[in-house]
Amino acid sequence: MSEIFDVIVIGSGPAGYPAAIRAGQNKLKVACIDEWKNTDGSFAFGGTCLNAGCIPSKALLESSELFQRAKDEFGIHGIKLGGITLDLGAMQKRRASVVKTMTNGILALFKANGVVGIQGHGRLLPGNQVLVTAPDGSENMLQARNVILASGSTPIRLKSVPHDGKAIIDSWDALELDAVPGRLGVIGAGVIGLELGSVWRRLGSTVTMLEALEQFLPMVDQTIAKEAQRHLKKQGLDIKLGAKVLSAAATSGGVDVVYADAQGEHTLQVDKLVVAVGRRPFTEGLLAEGTGVELDARGFVQVDEHCRTTVPNVWAIGDVVRGPMLAHKGKEEGVMVADLIAGQFGEVNYKVIPSVIYTTPEIAWVGQTEEQVKASGRAYKVGAFPFAASGRARAMEAGAGMAKIVSAKDDDEVLGVHVIGPMAGELIAEAVLAMEYSASTEDIQRTIHAHPTLSEAIHEAALAVDKKMIDGINR
Ligand code: FAD
Ligand code: AMP
Repeated sequence: MSEIFDVIVIGSGPAGYPAAIRAGQNKLKVACIDEWKNTDGSFAFGGTCLNAGCIPSKALLESSELFQRAKDEFGIHGIKLGGITLDLGAMQKRRASVVKTMTNGILALFKANGVVGIQGHGRLLPGNQVLVTAPDGSENMLQARNVILASGSTPIRLKSVPHDGKAIIDSWDALELDAVPGRLGVIGAGVIGLELGSVWRRLGSTVTMLEALEQFLPMVDQTIAKEAQRHLKKQGLDIKLGAKVLSAAATSGGVDVVYADAQGEHTLQVDKLVVAVGRRPFTEGLLAEGTGVELDARGFVQVDEHCRTTVPNVWAIGDVVRGPMLAHKGKEEGVMVADLIAGQFGEVNYKVIPSVIYTTPEIAWVGQTEEQVKASGRAYKVGAFPFAASGRARAMEAGAGMAKIVSAKDDDEVLGVHVIGPMAGELIAEAVLAMEYSASTEDIQRTIHAHPTLSEAIHEAALAVDKKMIDGINR
């Protein structure tokens, strides 16, 4: 007789592990299965986010920014340092240790919440059975009242750009390089491409980014995107828009990349080429014949707004289902599903999901862009405040960028908040909370913000919406 669980979660990324923890908090008998294996051969919970995504990328972004600031900015503060050199080995060791601390943290959280963590491959069989194949090949059949699929996503590969893990690499490989490439090519100037390009540019690579679209960051408010493009160009990122990569081949000296733009075909020679053209849902080996779980045309597990699949008591969350591929979106879905299973209230507000790009300056937004509001036909008003006028930003030598708010003309509701500037990813939390409570611009205007803080930029942007800005000139 197989062991019976109330909930079995397949995948322990930022969608799966919170689902398991909340199920444990809800006093359900829960197991969480994951097969993730790191490049050093160790197994780990935490999925892409902790092992090969959010956390290692932020560790390297932080280190590389400090390196670049020590070289280019400390002098402005009157700090004279000589002989600044890079010890990439030490930087990578720190990155790996940050990851290890976080993934070990999940083990501790599982223990504290009564979650049975299982290392191995999980496969859903008809009748809510889950076949677990352990790393040594042994098999174990588990039975669940509810199964949550949280198998995540994997990098999209281009057929004509064959991945070899050495010269032609993906985002995971690009986080673990042990030498700074002289010339780095990046296909795709999306969020991941820009973050990786920034890391290696700061550490000394000549970076060329090839982006098929003519428009830079089309999902971002275009005032902010234009500002970002200007700053990133100044930092030395060569972003070629309208440049579609046709093929690439590893050579003895690196990689030859063939791309086409309005002028015709070109060949770019680089030492390493990162393919960062997006991610696709990962369902390989997840579903046995006859489970009844349906995928949509793009390979995502089909779910309703409460993450119910086409099969009763089988749920799916995170990158493997529709919606933005973001860790915090998956986390909220995981918590919602674990609460719904326990008979409690559960809801995700898909309209108010923040996005952050961890470049310098940082870019963060929530809600609709000005372009989207305009296209919707709703009358709107806009206010913006430049960080150049923020005392705190100036004191930090970080006066680039702005905060911008788009509000409805009729009832003053905040429709979108867009920030490019220092700590934008932290600043956006206030806007998310405001929008979660359907705040009006006036609500933000009447909220006291500490001085001198970066958050005053959000306050002033709200004032600017009604031409009541104090620290800037209203236009
Ligand atoms: P995943 O994290 O992909 O986890 C899925 C897990 O399921 C994996 O551990 C996998 O081994 C396991 N699994 C799959 N199938 C099976 C099976 N059959 N049996 C057992 N185990 C299985 N998002 C942000 O919000 N902020 C960021 O700053 C950010 N930065 C990123 C940087 C990079 C370089 C990358 C690549 C991604 C980044 N993301 C970021 C995206 C984020 O990592 C994903 O949105 C998030 O990891 C999705 O979580 P998930 O739990 O759905 O899937
Ligand atoms: P994201 O989906 O944010 O990770 O971004 C991936 C980016 O890669 C998108 O902006 C795509 O337009 C871009 N892209 C996809 N295929 C190609 C290609 N063959 N050449 C250049 N850019 C590409």
